Amino acid sequence: MPAAPEAALAPYACHPDHSRGRRFAQAPAPTRTEFQRDRDRIVHSTGFRRLVYKTQVFLNHEGDLFRTRLTHSLEVAQLGRSMARSLALNEDLVEAIALAHDLGHTPFGHAGQDALNACMQPFGGFEHNLQSLRVVDSLEERYPEFDGLNLSFETREGILKHCSATNAQALEQLEPGGVGRRFLDRTQPSLEAQLCNLADEIAYNAHDIDDGVRSGLITLAQLQQVPLVDDFRRQILTEFPTLGDRSQGRRLLYETIRRMLSAQVYDVMAASGQALQQAAPADVAAVRHLPALIGFSSSMAERSQQLKSFLLRHLYRHPQVMATTGLAQQVVQELFAFYQAQPTEMAEGFAARSAALAGTPEEATARARVVADYIAGMTDRFATREHERLSGRRLLP
Ligand code: MG
Repeated sequence: MPAAPEAALAPYACHPDHSRGRRFAQAPAPTRTEFQRDRDRIVHSTGFRRLVYKTQVFLNHEGDLFRTRLTHSLEVAQLGRSMARSLALNEDLVEAIALAHDLGHTPFGHAGQDALNACMQPFGGFEHNLQSLRVVDSLEERYPEFDGLNLSFETREGILKHCSATNAQALEQLEPGGVGRRFLDRTQPSLEAQLCNLADEIAYNAHDIDDGVRSGLITLAQLQQVPLVDDFRRQILTEFPTLGDRSQGRRLLYETIRRMLSAQVYDVMAASGQALQQAAPADVAAVRHLPALIGFSSSMAERSQQLKSFLLRHLYRHPQVMATTGLAQQVVQELFAFYQAQPTEMAEGFAARSAALAGTPEEATARARVVADYIAGMTDRFATREHERLSGRRLLP
């Protein structure tokens, strides 16, 4: 067992030797810690490979340089690891959570998620966080002895970032005292899970500016109303006046984003370091019963919120983005209706799962869940083609 990194962990960090374990007991790996093993299982999963063809904000076909769910997840892992190291938290666990956190996302980003959730309303709804957990707990088919990846409790806890009370109760019934419990008790997850949440936010705020400006939907000039961005733009122009030239726009953008990212990362390290020092939790169990300890300073939280509001108004609700998301929602809605009517049109394993439910008491709900699982696993391009095959109409390029 590689001893050095674990020896450097703070007492309140998740230690792999004190993991609450896996749902199916397995002998320890000879050369890897439990969390490194989780990370490796995630990287080799089918769901992980599909992230490359899933939209973050811009649909996959709109350009080769925009973030996908895969590059987003890698950026979250990078930011998370940097912060974890400085706070003496477990980098491997942060990496595992970051790489898995978006596995349950539908094709077409939030548009797809909203459409699928609407379709699933009569059958218990659809939440992407819960779906990420379903992917690692049951939908991946890679092991002879069990469904899913059989990840450790701490990784699964981090993946389930949010959960409704109803779903938490359902989880609690299946796994008493398990990952659904904290949403009923209103306690906190590990510091590594808290850190991943924040790394996710920092990553998408930054890369959505980059993708938004590069797409031409927003401009750096417009971003002058966002202090978190504009303070750095002005600072850079004072240091490097030539970056004000039109031809230097890209360098100015990247340098602005780089400084903004660094400022947020250092802010989290300082504010969280201070909160940890004050609360001085003795161990992970103590962390769970304290308020959230990982976060921005209050001034950075406010600046980050201003940026989020800007992106919501000017990018996520941009007419051009909305037009494509409308079509994407139509694809998902129509696919759902097709498979509900004709489950045999799904891939073999899903069709078989659906057929096996015939005559069971929960048939309608359980069959709709199979359809949701099938659609949620699709990449943007597979969903587009499959929709065309079933409807005879091509809605997206
Ligand atoms: Mg994310």
